[in-house]
Amino acid sequence: MKYYYNPPSIVKILNRSFRWNTRNNKILLTFDDGPTEAATLKILSILRANNLKAVFFCVGNNIKNQQALAERILSDGHTIANHTMNHKLLTKMSREESITELGAFNDLMIEKFQYNVKYFRPAHGRFNIKTKGILKELNLECIMWNLLTYDYENNIEKVKYSIDNYLKENSILVFHDSIKCSDIIEEALNYTVEQADKMGFKFGEPEDCLK
Ligand SMILES: [Zn+2]
Repeated sequence: MKYYYNPPSIVKILNRSFRWNTRNNKILLTFDDGPTEAATLKILSILRANNLKAVFFCVGNNIKNQQALAERILSDGHTIANHTMNHKLLTKMSREESITELGAFNDLMIEKFQYNVKYFRPAHGRFNIKTKGILKELNLECIMWNLLTYDYENNIEKVKYSIDNYLKENSILVFHDSIKCSDIIEEALNYTVEQADKMGFKFGEPEDCLK
């Protein structure tokens, strides 16, 4: 059951250039797949209320469609990171296709916001032997996680279970900025903040957590 929430150590050891946890013993919040009309503003308002900064692993096409929301994410002081242009799987693309797909995201962020992208997370967390070289060429750091909350299953009890059992002082949490979890995302975040506080864990800012 544990690996369902937290990837196995062997995967982390074999891919130690990827980040699987924070190194400052603080919790980092991350949100995949946005920006979306359904969830981005809900997430931003809870982050603002709690004075938290997060990483948004955005899909390039969503940024194109929701440029004002991407702007809000940045103006609120959060980090935008590369989650591919079209949510394509690295495992289904050649090296050249991958470089085009990921590079297009970085170019889009420079073109729209003069923003240099530093971090990447693969769609569905899938990567292969070529991934390391591709990311090196694009100067991107791969940020994985050690706590998947399954918020996209839209079941608040499941999110609470993951937090109660697997939240740690060095957690990188995955939530989603997606219509799939938009009914529960506010409760999920409020619960996470409350529980972290009860357990004595602190949240960190992206740059410090990922140093
Ligand atoms: Zn995704």
